Amino acid sequence: MDPLILSGAQIIDGTGAEPVRGRSVVVEDGRVTAVVDDARAPRGPRVDLDGATLLPGLINAHVHLCMGAEADPVGAMKAETLAATTIKALVRARETLAAGVTTVRDLGGRDYCELALRQAIRDGLVEGPRILAAGRPVCMTGGHGHWLGREADGPDDVRRAVREQLKAGVDLVKLIATGGVLTAGVEPGAAQLTLEEMRAAVEEARKASRRTAAHAQGSEGIADAVRAGITSIEHGIFLTEEIVARMLRAGTYLVPTLNAPAAIVAGGVAAGVPEYAVRKSAAVMADHVKSFRLALERGVAIAAGSDAGTPFNRHGSLVPELSLMVEHGMTPLQAIRSATSVAADLLGLGDLIGRIAPGYAADLIAVRGEPAARIEALAHPATVWVSGRALSASAPPR
Ligand SMILES: [Zn+2]
Repeated sequence: MDPLILSGAQIIDGTGAEPVRGRSVVVEDGRVTAVVDDARAPRGPRVDLDGATLLPGLINAHVHLCMGAEADPVGAMKAETLAATTIKALVRARETLAAGVTTVRDLGGRDYCELALRQAIRDGLVEGPRILAAGRPVCMTGGHGHWLGREADGPDDVRRAVREQLKAGVDLVKLIATGGVLTAGVEPGAAQLTLEEMRAAVEEARKASRRTAAHAQGSEGIADAVRAGITSIEHGIFLTEEIVARMLRAGTYLVPTLNAPAAIVAGGVAAGVPEYAVRKSAAVMADHVKSFRLALERGVAIAAGSDAGTPFNRHGSLVPELSLMVEHGMTPLQAIRSATSVAADLLGLGDLIGRIAPGYAADLIAVRGEPAARIEALAHPATVWVSGRALSASAPPR
């Protein structure tokens, strides 16, 4: 097959490096095989990008494809059939890809329908992003997210719960280390799974070469998750200097999901968000931002993830999350790096996606404007390529 040559673009390669102009990206068999000066590009079918900016496809490291970002997504999911959830998840996956997000990590689905969706996309039955999925998050009895999780108590039961997820075919294991916002009757600051329980879970995941993620908001639960050897802390609302130092030593990632509480508070009770969710979100927002800034200053690896599916936190564009990361201290290039090479490393796909370089999958987006100056330029990609194939509904940039 002839190579595809994408010419005349400004390239942001995902590593945090400054944009480079006048380069061509050569794509063969779904992979980038060369990045060369336009004048030295080989002959072959050429797409003139006419000064558009070419970036790696974005990665959203925290989504819930089975949740619909309604005012009360938990109530909405409980009220619909599994078949309805599955169809909606497929539509959300398609919207996500069209918005330039070519890979997502799903951190809590519904009865594994997200695993069926993952397979349908891999098999080419439907278009959608690459999906890595955690299946049912493992939580304590009555713990946060028990309405979609696998409740387990004691290290042996937690071990069994993890083995069940592995048997179902998950890509990673999600643990619930603390309370959260969207579950009635639990508090974000309170620890839930114990250190011993999380150690058992991480051990089982490691034996199967799977990574782990912990929903962890309060300090005690975050510290225990890090001690247990978790790969990423999700939310990380109450970080401390000591925890951050421990995360740096252990190489633990942070996925802040800044838009999750922000969207809940912006929506509010009047829009139908449950009162407890609004109250708890409003109470933690300032600490959430403080923790994000602390992690950023100290150099913790921060991967972009929006928690899409939670109230008014819509599937599709990652820009609302990236805008908040910039508002709270990142440069646009740092935010782009968080959503590309850093997120790819977190997912264990750092040698396949998240960069524009020879050998990497040709998951690419072309946008108008200057995303290195204004992150919002990423909001409406003109073209999205998955493994070198342009998404059917996207038109070449003009
Ligand atoms: Zn979540």
